[in-house]
Amino acid sequence: MDKKKILLIGTGGTIASEMGENGLVPELTSDQLLRYIPDISRICQVECVQVFSLDSTNIMPQHWVQIVNALREQYERYDGFVISHGTDTMAYTAAALSYLVQGSPKPIVLTGAQKPIGFETTDSKQNLRDAFAVAASDMAGVMLVFNGKVILGTRARKTRSKSFEAFSSINYPLLGMVQDGRLIPYIRPDSGERPVFYDQINSNVALLKLIPGLDCGAAKWFLEHNDALIMESFGVGGLPAYEAGDYYETVKDGLDAGKIVVMTTQVENEGSDLSVYHVGTAIKRSLPVLEAYDMTTEAVTAKLMWILGQTRDPKQVARMFYDTVANDILAFK
Ligand code: ASP
Repeated sequence: MDKKKILLIGTGGTIASEMGENGLVPELTSDQLLRYIPDISRICQVECVQVFSLDSTNIMPQHWVQIVNALREQYERYDGFVISHGTDTMAYTAAALSYLVQGSPKPIVLTGAQKPIGFETTDSKQNLRDAFAVAASDMAGVMLVFNGKVILGTRARKTRSKSFEAFSSINYPLLGMVQDGRLIPYIRPDSGERPVFYDQINSNVALLKLIPGLDCGAAKWFLEHNDALIMESFGVGGLPAYEAGDYYETVKDGLDAGKIVVMTTQVENEGSDLSVYHVGTAIKRSLPVLEAYDMTTEAVTAKLMWILGQTRDPKQVARMFYDTVANDILAFK
């Protein structure tokens, strides 16, 4: 049987970094990365392209579109794709690609590393090999492969800043594991016959994490300067009603001005449910706020940017927000 043809798309990150005078800098191209794992030619045939070389801290929504354009241009020529990427914002890129490339029957796999590929102790080679094993399999859609875990693109989050076990799947099971170079698939994501590509996004989306006593002036400012505000509140969710300033009025003013407000929680697992406490029902019943339920904040961010690139009509936004894309929201009621 012919070997699968995989495109390696380089974007920078630790995996491609070398030690400079002031710390690690992404220097290596995807071709250079590949030279560290010559044995990969036994599994698949790889070609390389470099779209940019950035520490992922510097990645912006416009870079997601560059990756989408590379995928769109090369889609027919390859059986699968590996995107090497910095770990810091990889979960955002994984979520963004899940909305911007929907229903791909071919695997699109993001990976990276906590230690550069040229270091003596590194997770780079294993992660790259594992990513190729998944990209050459019959898995479908956008996934993140790291430390043997295969995570759905809409469910990934960086949960450790230093150790190799850097990513978790939030409110959703792993799609599989890669052990000794072999993929053990647990779930094959649904796919379409052909992918639908999007390149319009609106990045005027802000995120505000509440802390006890935070003045609602911050929310007001964010609402004035953005098209959507995600509010990471406490527990299953609710908004404070401080005597010094009521969040209710601030949010109402924003909604009246046509802005989108999404309530979510800063608790990592199990999601929001505004229907439980008065602090939640007080806003959910009387204001058209949206609620993240079991979606990750990374997915909410990317989904809003994708939706607002298509429409600004609040009703349409709400409908699209609650439409499940790549199993991103399942606990909606
Ligand atoms: N700062 C690096 C980046 O995100 C970290 C990494 O790749 O692990 O590009």
